[in-house]
Amino acid sequence: MSDESPCWENTNHPLPERSPFDQVLILGWYDGPEEGLIRCGKCKRVYFFKLLDFVNEDEGLRLFGLAPLPADSIDRAVQALSQYMSPKWPMWAPIWQFPTEAERETVDSLIDGILSKAGPTTLVVTTSNLAEVIQEAKTAPDEHAAQPAVREAV
Ligand SMILES: [Zn+2]
Repeated sequence: MSDESPCWENTNHPLPERSPFDQVLILGWYDGPEEGLIRCGKCKRVYFFKLLDFVNEDEGLRLFGLAPLPADSIDRAVQALSQYMSPKWPMWAPIWQFPTEAERETVDSLIDGILSKAGPTTLVVTTSNLAEVIQEAKTAPDEHAAQPAVREAV
């Protein structure tokens, strides 16, 4: 990490605030976003986000953990996917359909490689829409941060 300057996602936010995230790339869906890549619009840091818990399904409120990724992670994923479909921001849930099985496997392995770089969870957010409003955000406590956030093997 060359840029250690503090930003929105390095501090606690106990009250609802407008989301600082300008790119949400959804890679897993379960009645809503389950996991993917997310970028802060201010500092351009990129994180892996993963559904941790359901807070209130009636309101669509979910708890997500964010783990830092290299800054070019979203760009690399978008570059691979945009050969087959058009990105849509601030939130994009690409349809995982490719002309051939080989192309799908190529994209899958690229995405797996990107996600494998995720560090420990540094921020936990409650939200019904990652790109619009964050209800609450807490920096991850140390014992939580000690657990590496890696995607489960598919
Ligand atoms: Zn930021």
